[in-house]
Amino acid sequence: MDRQDFTHTIRTQMFVDGRFCASGNGRTFAVFNPATGTEIAQVPDAGDADIDAAVTAARRAFEADTWRRMPPAERERLLLKLADLVERNGDELAALETLNQGKLLGFSKMLEVGGSVQWLRYMAGWATKIEGSTLDLSLAFPPGVRYNASTRRVPAGVVAAIVPWNFPLLMAVWKIAPALACGCTVVLKPAEETPLTAIRLAELAHEAGFPPGVLNVVTGQGETAGAALVRHAGVDKVTFTGSTEVGRIIGKQCANDLKRVSLELGGKSPVIVLDDCDPQRAIEGAAGAIFFNHGQVCTAGSRLYVPRARFDEIVEGIAQVARNTVLGSGFDAATQMGPLVSARHRAKVASMIAQGRAEGGEIVAGGGDGNRAGYFVEPTVIANATNKPLTVVREEVFGPVLVAMPYDDVDEAIAAANASEYGLGASVWTNQLDRALRVVDAVQAGTVWVNTHNMVDPALPFGGFKASGIGREHGRAIIDAYTETKSVCIAY
Ligand code: NAD
Repeated sequence: MDRQDFTHTIRTQMFVDGRFCASGNGRTFAVFNPATGTEIAQVPDAGDADIDAAVTAARRAFEADTWRRMPPAERERLLLKLADLVERNGDELAALETLNQGKLLGFSKMLEVGGSVQWLRYMAGWATKIEGSTLDLSLAFPPGVRYNASTRRVPAGVVAAIVPWNFPLLMAVWKIAPALACGCTVVLKPAEETPLTAIRLAELAHEAGFPPGVLNVVTGQGETAGAALVRHAGVDKVTFTGSTEVGRIIGKQCANDLKRVSLELGGKSPVIVLDDCDPQRAIEGAAGAIFFNHGQVCTAGSRLYVPRARFDEIVEGIAQVARNTVLGSGFDAATQMGPLVSARHRAKVASMIAQGRAEGGEIVAGGGDGNRAGYFVEPTVIANATNKPLTVVREEVFGPVLVAMPYDDVDEAIAAANASEYGLGASVWTNQLDRALRVVDAVQAGTVWVNTHNMVDPALPFGGFKASGIGREHGRAIIDAYTETKSVCIAY
């Protein structure tokens, strides 16, 4: 499918204060279909004045009593209505995502649309369940005076939400749904590669009845529009998902401005196979952990640790999966892996594979681009049988590239797994509960899976240890991220 085959209208403007708009200076940039490399559309390249207009609209909507003081049940109702509209327009949103991002249409339907609906409904429920506590104080003066003390959670204010391109619609919903449930207003900046579903989401929110300015979407480059949004004085809270490199820049700016900030960053997640595992299950699980979404997953299982006695069997099993994977357009039902998101990203992934080979890794499967137009990289397995300090073991690739290493005892595997600046996800594959729990205890990661990988749920907190981020999304924890505690002390 190409642009001309997409039968719906593609919205290509920003959505600010309840209206579509171009950038003030008229500048635009191109977005592409990664399966063919052809241009889909031009979208506004926001400058400082556009960011200022969006933040001003969000500020006005926050200060007005219509949103933050709206009865929580009414905010819940609007979020549920948005969930219904996303569901009803699911075929269009899924096709738009596959056209612009390249993922398989089935995953666009199940994860981008289905996941967004699930998260919107779960977070809608929180709007009516935000609560504080009452406290007994020890204050004993002036004599005879008593105190009634309590806390309440109040919305953090105007939220700047900056998201990456790997799950464009879902990542946007992970930010906006809890922020809106808590009574915040939002300026959302999608990644420059994949802005189209976020624009449509804002339009659907408007259709659901969200007041103007409550949800604004600006399109633009990270270094200009994104940076202007982060440093804008009208923003109270920044929530960012993206690379650790950019997360450090944003964290510094927020520290300087004393703005609240949540950071969901990169990963280099280990997959630890124990010697008692069911080998077929481990092979399929490890292949899925790295190749799902073409490896463009922050928790992708990119480092594999296998007992030396089973190394050849398990690595060859995963290599077979890689060799048999059918590459192609995400719209083609026969396709098992689509393209990477952009030409630039494909070049980065290809250069990291080449570096892995040059530093002594053995390419057991993949390594090429499948001889195709579009931004394809074959699923790749690199054996590092002598545990060389390869760059590709240390640095995030964010593509379908697995590095496999043998180990002799499990403590050695855990030490290697923890010898990383990252700590986002990890999985262990075993049939023995006590052994699984020992690995769970020892691995430094925000999420540890047992006999599964990459599973997320709106009820389950998600976030990183170490350089993988600060804060947690989902579950009860998310309410803290979008509210401030206000203490109230009444003398009587
Ligand atoms: P990126 O950091 O390059 O860009 C992410 C977003 O930040 C984009 O919208 C971009 O425009 C914006 N941006 C870039 N520079 C900026 C700046 N100076 N100021 C403000 N905004 C700026 O990341 P990416 O390449 O789009 O995404 C891949 C990365 O995201 C990977 O490292 C991946 O691990 C990470 N990620 C993390 C999670 C998580 O939950 N931990 C989830 C998905 C992706």
